[in-house]
Amino acid sequence: MMNKMQLLNSMLYKSGILPLMQSMMNSKTLIILAYHRIYNAGAYFPFDNDLISATPEQFEQQLRFISANGFTVIDFHDLREIMHSKEIKGNRYAVITFDDGFEDNYTFAFPLLRKFGMKAVIFLVTDCIDSTIPFWFDRFAFYYKQGLIKACHFPVGSEPPVENMPLVDLLSFMKTIPNQIRLGIMDNLDRENIELFDDETIGGLSRPLSWAQIREMNEHGIEFGSHTCSHPAIPMLTEDSTVEQEIAGSKHVIESEIGTRVVSFSYPIGAASPLAMFYVKKHGYEFAVDYYHSKNKLTRHFNPFALHRLHMETSLSYDEYRISMIT
Ligand SMILES: [Zn+2]
Repeated sequence: MMNKMQLLNSMLYKSGILPLMQSMMNSKTLIILAYHRIYNAGAYFPFDNDLISATPEQFEQQLRFISANGFTVIDFHDLREIMHSKEIKGNRYAVITFDDGFEDNYTFAFPLLRKFGMKAVIFLVTDCIDSTIPFWFDRFAFYYKQGLIKACHFPVGSEPPVENMPLVDLLSFMKTIPNQIRLGIMDNLDRENIELFDDETIGGLSRPLSWAQIREMNEHGIEFGSHTCSHPAIPMLTEDSTVEQEIAGSKHVIESEIGTRVVSFSYPIGAASPLAMFYVKKHGYEFAVDYYHSKNKLTRHFNPFALHRLHMETSLSYDEYRISMIT
């Protein structure tokens, strides 16, 4: 016969709760969450829905879970101190990151982060800050949804079957062609259409952050990292000097604008090529994140220039999110 305690243990074990608690106690985990936009797109949205990582309601629920479940929310300056300390204290660390630097990070994410007293890290595309023009990948998504992209916008011989391709595939095509060709295609499309974003109701739906917003957030504990100057797919750049300029130049601009050292970098399109990693190390970054969907084990031996992240999507249910955080 089992006594009450044995019975309880057995029930907890069979339900999976006990093994889970044991594994949580034994390993030190670094969870880095990868968000892009916090926005409520509604029924029709003229930009890329896949870049919306959570509605404000979902984001608040996710932060509440982090707050209530024993995670220590840190930024990369904190991580640096933790890695340099004698002993890694605590078991579960979380870093909340945002790629690109959309204005909604300020409008919707920042007030909620403040409400929960949490830090976060925003990776900026420095050429785009203070611009009223959307990022190139969101302009492309907009043109696609308006039916404005035709085979004639592509170089002869490389025309993808535009009419039949889903947006996600056409965007993948754009991210895997040489950078100069991509820039040429965007020039063709922008020349005919860029004034469409002058319309406040359209342009206001996909806008990069301003330096004023960045400075205000920085004063309230938000860290800013680099996501390059112009958001190319780094492996598609043909000149090494361009790779170096994208990585070093963006760091320099952020540091001179906000007066804080930049220690973190996010590889655009998640592509951590050896060349990109080389320049990231050379120019004094201490951490870099890719887009490989995984948690990180926090040990002395992890590679700080290939940290993985959990992808945040609006399709993620609250239960799926909770399970991904604690298992
Ligand atoms: Zn990006």
